[in-house]
Amino acid sequence: MSDTHITRPLFDQIMVPNYAPLDMIPVRGEGSRVWDQEDNEYIDLTGGIAVNALGHAHPELITVLTEQAQKLWHVSNIYTNEPALKLAKKLVDNTFAEKVFFANSGAEANEAALKLARRVAFDKFGIEKTEIIAFYQGFHGRTFFTVTAGGQSTYSDGFGPKPADITHLEYNDLSELEKVISDKTCAVILEPLQGEGGVLPITSEFAQGVRALCDKHNALMIFDEVQTGMGRTGELFAYMGLNVIPDVVTSAKALGAGFPIAAMLTKTCFAEHLKVGTHGTTFGGNPLACAVAGKAFDLINTKDMMSGVKHKEQLIRQHLEAINDEFSVFKEIRGAGLLLGAVLNEQYKDQAKIFFLESAQQGLLILVAGANVLRFAPALNISDDLIEQAMLKLKQAVRNIVHKDT
Ligand SMILES: *Cc1c(COP(=O)(O)O)cnc(C)c1O
Repeated sequence: MSDTHITRPLFDQIMVPNYAPLDMIPVRGEGSRVWDQEDNEYIDLTGGIAVNALGHAHPELITVLTEQAQKLWHVSNIYTNEPALKLAKKLVDNTFAEKVFFANSGAEANEAALKLARRVAFDKFGIEKTEIIAFYQGFHGRTFFTVTAGGQSTYSDGFGPKPADITHLEYNDLSELEKVISDKTCAVILEPLQGEGGVLPITSEFAQGVRALCDKHNALMIFDEVQTGMGRTGELFAYMGLNVIPDVVTSAKALGAGFPIAAMLTKTCFAEHLKVGTHGTTFGGNPLACAVAGKAFDLINTKDMMSGVKHKEQLIRQHLEAINDEFSVFKEIRGAGLLLGAVLNEQYKDQAKIFFLESAQQGLLILVAGANVLRFAPALNISDDLIEQAMLKLKQAVRNIVHKDT
């Protein structure tokens, strides 16, 4: 194996073909820059899909990771451990939550949230209260329960019988929710800003309306903050900017700033229904992940970091507007904080992939959210200077695409 040539074609030979990675293979990163095997440099506005909130190879995270690596990596949940308790304490001290459950991915945190909601309803109201309401274009992960809750049936079709009693409604349509929700509803799950579904913000009336209807029908309001949490929108969690307090918040992506970890946050009155043995995970809350996440939490949860996010949002928006003034490619710029979407107009409808590929040609890594939206989710600590450079590259990519067209 030592003499195997590690190149992109090897992926097609030996990897399950459920992904279509770019042609280049990144080999190292620093801050918001990445280099590939040929030492080409890229500016990274993807943040590993809203994960690397502090960029690549952050020195303080390297220190805490390597220090913890010398001490204790894994003990399982037969024991608790210091980094997990320290991180949980930070989470409860800084949010509405009183209890924390650690998992390893966003899907697992949501799986726990949905199982919690079903169990709470079962214990308190009996076997009839099982309906989960979710929203079209929502995304909650790829386990069968969470992907079924997600609002794109193409992701959940073709795998046999689905977990039952999940209803999908239009996002931001309060009157429809009001008609459908009932005492049989045990939970409403939603993102405070639909990330994968197209960077679609929630209206505050909808968020508050969901809260009121959940109260009325004894349903848990589950906020999936896997993408929006940990500073992404310029608040520690997006619910904090919406004047609502959910019953459950899930966090993952940026929680470990690049190290896999997730959390489900809730109140004691709900958490107490997950008694010993009702749920679990081998890796969840392992010392290595929690140590990194604890440090990341301290670095992210500062006034300066949050105001920086809001400032950088304005900077990126201005550049996107300027690009659009010159080339007329976007219908709308939307999102919050450093989770921004540029929606392509009629002329470029469903061509996001082309912009993504042309940007990579220019040395710029961006994301798409569906076929029609360019998505930007850079590290929260990206410098203004690098944003300027990135926007020049984006402008060149857009210019090339527009000129190819004419
Ligand atoms: C990414 C994402 C998930 C899934 O997280 P995984 O770690 O991939 O399981 C769930 N919900 C939202 C809102 C996400 O953005």
